[in-house]
Amino acid sequence: MSDIIQLLPDHVANQIAAGEVVQRPASVVKELLENAIDAGATEIKLILKEAGKTLVQVIDNGKGMSVTDARLSFERHATSKIRSAEDLFQLNTKGFRGEALASIAAIAHVELKTKQEADELGTQIVIEGSTVKSQDVVVTPKGTSVAVKNLFFNIPARRNFLKSNTVELRHVTDEFHRVALAHPSIGFSMFHNGSELFSLNSSNYRQRVVNIFGTKTNEKLVPVEETTEVLKVSGFVGKPEFSKKTKTEQFFFVNDRFVKSPYLNHAINAAFEGLLKDGYHPSYFLNLTVDPKTIDINIHPTKTEIKFDDEHTLYAILRSSVKHSLGQFNIAPVLDFESDANLDTPYDYKDKSGKTPTITVDRSFNPFKNDFQQVKTHSRTGNQLKTQAHWESLYVGLESKSNASPIDFSEVTYESDTKTESIFKSNEVTQEKTTYQLRQKYIVSTIKSGMLIIDQNRAHQRILYENLLKQLTSKEATTQQLLFPLNISFSTSDTTIVKQLQPDLEFAGFEFSEVKEDQVIITGVPVGVPESEVSIVFEQLISDVENDVPDQNFSASDLLAKSMAKSLAIKTGQTLNAEEQEHILNSLFACKEPSVSPTNKTTFITLGVDDIEKKFM
Ligand code: ADP
Ligand code: MG
Repeated sequence: MSDIIQLLPDHVANQIAAGEVVQRPASVVKELLENAIDAGATEIKLILKEAGKTLVQVIDNGKGMSVTDARLSFERHATSKIRSAEDLFQLNTKGFRGEALASIAAIAHVELKTKQEADELGTQIVIEGSTVKSQDVVVTPKGTSVAVKNLFFNIPARRNFLKSNTVELRHVTDEFHRVALAHPSIGFSMFHNGSELFSLNSSNYRQRVVNIFGTKTNEKLVPVEETTEVLKVSGFVGKPEFSKKTKTEQFFFVNDRFVKSPYLNHAINAAFEGLLKDGYHPSYFLNLTVDPKTIDINIHPTKTEIKFDDEHTLYAILRSSVKHSLGQFNIAPVLDFESDANLDTPYDYKDKSGKTPTITVDRSFNPFKNDFQQVKTHSRTGNQLKTQAHWESLYVGLESKSNASPIDFSEVTYESDTKTESIFKSNEVTQEKTTYQLRQKYIVSTIKSGMLIIDQNRAHQRILYENLLKQLTSKEATTQQLLFPLNISFSTSDTTIVKQLQPDLEFAGFEFSEVKEDQVIITGVPVGVPESEVSIVFEQLISDVENDVPDQNFSASDLLAKSMAKSLAIKTGQTLNAEEQEHILNSLFACKEPSVSPTNKTTFITLGVDDIEKKFM
């Protein structure tokens, strides 16, 4: 019998290899982006048509290739990145298999243009299904452009296997995010069918995360930082209350390479134990740096799986460092790269000692109680509801006016300021029925030295103002989604003002779906702001901005906090029950500046026993 074993022709071998490396447009994106990074690029542009099915092009400003290298780069096992098997254990590059370009060229139309810095002219090579169609000398900038057209043109079965453009574009975007997150110092942009989807400038890691996932992300990031002998961890985890039902914000990078690791994911979940509701997943963006000798990333062709030498130790370190950060985040200030919180704070926090964080627990919380349903629609999660009790309670006057569900004051924890405690030395204030309302304007209470009279409107303005300012500067406001978007019409000049203030309004908890020439569509409002008050808040705000002559000290946050406090505060003429009165009193004296309103008007006066006695003489 004659011999039956044959060597496969190269182009067939390449097609088979391609099946491992290239499953969909996103695989091409990954390989080309990684090559650009390995080439030392500082700017990388990704251009797509039809989710990459008809075009994936990556343009970089990296080191480029010589004529010979350009031609060789399409050969299988052609790589500049390793020379011997030992090099595999010292790997600092993304690629090393020398397979990607050969595989891609086997199943698509590829056009390569490349030039090295020192060369006058560059090289252009056109390859279709592993066949070189042309090679020319061209004028092209330093760096490399690889355009991959008509993916799987010669493998219809694979082409038919591709999903809709929406699905494929999502895979591409995921890949783009992973690479961009791993390399914040490199500038990336992404275009699809002619429109720019992402433009990411060179930045630090926090900015990169925020630029990709939206400004709102900034407020939810908790830094994680740990250096040990075997492992360096840095990056962020999301605060538990921002956890998601999907796992879309979970990223591990090992030595700048995105990896999937169910085992390490478990370590993070363990750190979050008890902090998440069932079915919710933590967000994390973590970079692990380990000695390349201690890992093996070569166990899977698409290289997202990883094997560590000492998994158990890594698990323990990761779990404890995340736990540590979560334990601290209550007191750790929000690191902010956009504005200095101190600049937005008109009064001096510096000399005051930090307040111990308090946790409000709703002990009577009963998920089966009917009125819970009603309240729940105002907030995204039940968890937020509980933590927001304090904030909502500040709007108690408005809530009762609009006949919303009553708020249980017994569940609200008041912070008390030790500095002003002296005037409440006796327990008179905390005893029942120690406050009275006078002419629906003043709250009257007794103090050790005599009598205290509070202007309810000005006091409430002060309370709201300080809370709003805190939320604005720390960007910690929580939004309640509206069931039906609110449509408010404005004049064009008014819309300009809203546009100017939009970032601050968003930090305060407003959400806009559209800010058009003459109208604004609001989809979310700060927790506790009744829907009925929203247009009043905006009217007040616009008139305040128009009347405020901005000077150097102009601070949008301060103005917004003042204006919102003014429109939302309990008004003169409003009847307050005993608990509401007491709440105003306690909250006022927990303020940093209880004695004046945000517009510098006296909030309370005291009448000494001596003064009273004089009147009786
Ligand atoms: P690998 O990245 O595994 O080495 P590839 O097939 O992806 O294999 O690339 C082959 C070689 O082509 C690389 O080793 C590199 O020398 C060169 N190359 C590919 N893309 C670029 C690029 N964008 N800039 C410079 N050189 C490149
Ligand atoms: Mg490569």
